[in-house]
Amino acid sequence: MAQDTVWCQNPRCPEKKTSSQIRGTKGNKYYQSSKASGYGSGNFCTLNCWYQWADKYLDQAIDNLGIRIGEPVKLPMESAWKKYYKYHYSSDGESSYLHYIENKLMGIKIPITTQQYDSICYSNDECLALANQIGYKIDYGKVVYKSNKAT
Ligand SMILES: [Zn+2]
Repeated sequence: MAQDTVWCQNPRCPEKKTSSQIRGTKGNKYYQSSKASGYGSGNFCTLNCWYQWADKYLDQAIDNLGIRIGEPVKLPMESAWKKYYKYHYSSDGESSYLHYIENKLMGIKIPITTQQYDSICYSNDECLALANQIGYKIDYGKVVYKSNKAT
């Protein structure tokens, strides 16, 4: 949440003309911006206001911050660890979830238990740490890993 942001940052917020935006006294009434809530990092009152603002200002914001990406961002192989699971349909009618740590760029896929899967977050470092703990060998073009004895 942006610090000190109380009001919705969409300049067109009052154009929603909702009853809760009415202020002033008889003969001198007006609509005013709503309070910001959880949208767009806490800067907007609704998703719609966030989109309306983004339509108008996002290009400028990116350019003025000097953060426009001109070349594709590259994630090197040492940072390519991830965990994932897939649903496994078995012929005997028993189905289950299979869990893995994988580094596709290194050609490594290590089966892990549900407990191991749940014990780490999605970060590259935690996935790599678990892979190292289990042990694996890099052998390009072939999926090679030591057997995972943990249950
Ligand atoms: Zn708004």
